[in-house]
Amino acid sequence: MRAAMDAAMRAVAAMDAAMRAVAAGEVGGPAVPAVGFTDALADLPDPTALSDPPPPPEARLAAALQAMEMVPIAEFRTVAEPARRAERLAVELHRPDLRMRARLVRADVLRREGDAVESGRIAQQVNTWATEHDDAYLQARSHLLLAVFFRHVGDVADALAHALQSVAHTGDDVPARIRARHLSVLAMLLHENGSSDESRRRAQEALDLATAIGDDEMSLQILNNMAYTASEDGDGQRAQHFIDEIRAIAARHDLTLGAHVLDTIARIEMTHGRYAEAEATLRPVLDGAARHLITEGNGLAEYLLTVAEAQRLRGDITAAQATLDRTAWVCEERKLASVRARVREEQAQLYAATGRYREAYEEHRRFYTEMQALQSAQREARAHALQAVFETEEARRESVRFREMAQRDALTGLHNRRYVDEQLTLLLERAAGRRTPLSVALIDLDHFKRINDTFSHATGDVVLQEIATLLDEAAVGPAVAARLGGEEFLLILPDMDADEAVRCCEQLRQAIAAHAWTPVTGEIPVTASIGVTTVADRDSTPSALLAQADRNLYAAKRSGRNRVIADPA
Ligand code: GH3
Ligand code: MG
Ligand code: MG
Repeated sequence: MRAAMDAAMRAVAAMDAAMRAVAAGEVGGPAVPAVGFTDALADLPDPTALSDPPPPPEARLAAALQAMEMVPIAEFRTVAEPARRAERLAVELHRPDLRMRARLVRADVLRREGDAVESGRIAQQVNTWATEHDDAYLQARSHLLLAVFFRHVGDVADALAHALQSVAHTGDDVPARIRARHLSVLAMLLHENGSSDESRRRAQEALDLATAIGDDEMSLQILNNMAYTASEDGDGQRAQHFIDEIRAIAARHDLTLGAHVLDTIARIEMTHGRYAEAEATLRPVLDGAARHLITEGNGLAEYLLTVAEAQRLRGDITAAQATLDRTAWVCEERKLASVRARVREEQAQLYAATGRYREAYEEHRRFYTEMQALQSAQREARAHALQAVFETEEARRESVRFREMAQRDALTGLHNRRYVDEQLTLLLERAAGRRTPLSVALIDLDHFKRINDTFSHATGDVVLQEIATLLDEAAVGPAVAARLGGEEFLLILPDMDADEAVRCCEQLRQAIAAHAWTPVTGEIPVTASIGVTTVADRDSTPSALLAQADRNLYAAKRSGRNRVIADPA
């Protein structure tokens, strides 16, 4: 225990710098200085190595995984390889739960690299596993990733449902930073679903958690989201309050604010009409002084666009045009279609500001057309992603259902011959392995043809169904009842020796004969002959066993029917 604690502490200590930074709310995350994340995993144990005292590999792997789960956005790439190693190690250690955790870390990397489908698929698989194994932490983590996936495909309602599940499964024993992150994602989705009050409450909870453990980067992340949502709600005063908080924390701890935080601040300053301030706020990003703080692919273009807008609004058309030209160039170079379209929109505004209405109109039309095309492409991509992630799950469920159906007899619902063929082989092997007995009984209705002929095929069917019910009742515990075809049935009786099997069959025979058949067959009785056999030697095969049962059944028929015949002594 002591050693496990030490290992965990070591891994956590190595992650210290990284931990002070934020693990991702989805509006973005402040960047942090590069940290040697892999150091924490550098001494991941070789599970086969012997040493004294024995290393606690599982505890160390768990600690390393926790460190990976807490790594800030800006460094997501650094966990790709360690996550793969952790997955392999978990397999060697026979710890499927740790393997699932490693897979989720990898899924998060894939998502940030743009592979939403593969990421969603893994999240869905892990979620199924976690639910089946009642693993709360993995449920919390996988629901979080599913929330992010659904948000990505534009389904904010389902995203919210998953975020709620994620928080519901996040226990108090989960590290505060991770709890804060789950709450913060929930807050964001509540906001996007129109529940502003609830959103604020959850965000505040997340902020309190981050503050309590002195996690400044996390606090900044949450405050950034709070400022952003307050501004979206049109509450400029609250938004400003959060910005003041952000600036205070940054000043107190001499932290550099991430580009997307600066962008949030600039946008809020703009809503207050403070255009020059907004421009000044983003200046370090544009000058390249804080270029390393940009974590997202389209970040620079976005920020340039904000500046161009600020410059236009404060009346410097020349500067605005220069910035916008630069923005367009960045978009072309990095193939940022959606920001490119918005550059056209801003260009239209600029034309209009200088009285060039004709060009403004043309540019706006181009913006509109491009936006339409982008949106329909996006819709298609989203539909494709949804299908790709969930069709596999659906297919799995369907195949289980078909498999189950394929092993059942349609008329009686009993197992069918295909199932018997599969199952008998397995049960025979098991009986041989455990040296336990196994019996089988063939049951054939007597003069069944007469019932069909006297009444109808439909009446015959009713008789078969009632027989099936009686057989089902006889098949207690591990016993299996099946319909082999026509009016021939089988009981597989694991763990029953010859005497027990005969007793069981005799009971069944009497139950059939004594059944209240009058409403179905009137005066005609329904009885069955049963041939029962018990495995004699360990090399017995299903067909040998069934052949012996059939011989006994034949003997029962020949000696007068309505009787049970077992193996000759
Ligand atoms: P025995 O006592 O010698 O077994 O006589 P039997 O009449 O029961 O045996 P036989 O094999 O001559 O006839 C079996 C009959 O079962 C023939 C067939 O019409 C009937 N049968 C087979 N499958 C079904 C079914 O699904 N529904 C109905 N109603 N009858 C069936
Ligand atoms: Mg028959
Ligand atoms: Mg028969």
